[in-house]
Amino acid sequence: MFKILIFGIAAYALYRLFMNDKRKNIEKSENDEAKKVADGILVRDPVCGVYVEKENSFSVRNGDVVEYFCSDDCRQKYIKQVQEQQKIQE
Ligand SMILES: [Zn+2]
Repeated sequence: MFKILIFGIAAYALYRLFMNDKRKNIEKSENDEAKKVADGILVRDPVCGVYVEKENSFSVRNGDVVEYFCSDDCRQKYIKQVQEQQKIQE
């Protein structure tokens, strides 16, 4: 009986430890993301809204603005959208 009690306490302690770590990691990664966005390391894909690292992204220049994308798919979609907008304006 005593052993079961000890085991229960140990398991609970481990559980608490694990949950705290998990929560900390989530907070940390959120802070990291915000910091990276602020530093210009992370950029937002305007098509699907995903954050990507600038270095690993697909980019396209639209006038003076450079847009970054998570994939070539998103880049193609964006280029199509821009071309359609330009057609409407003409
Ligand atoms: Zn995307």
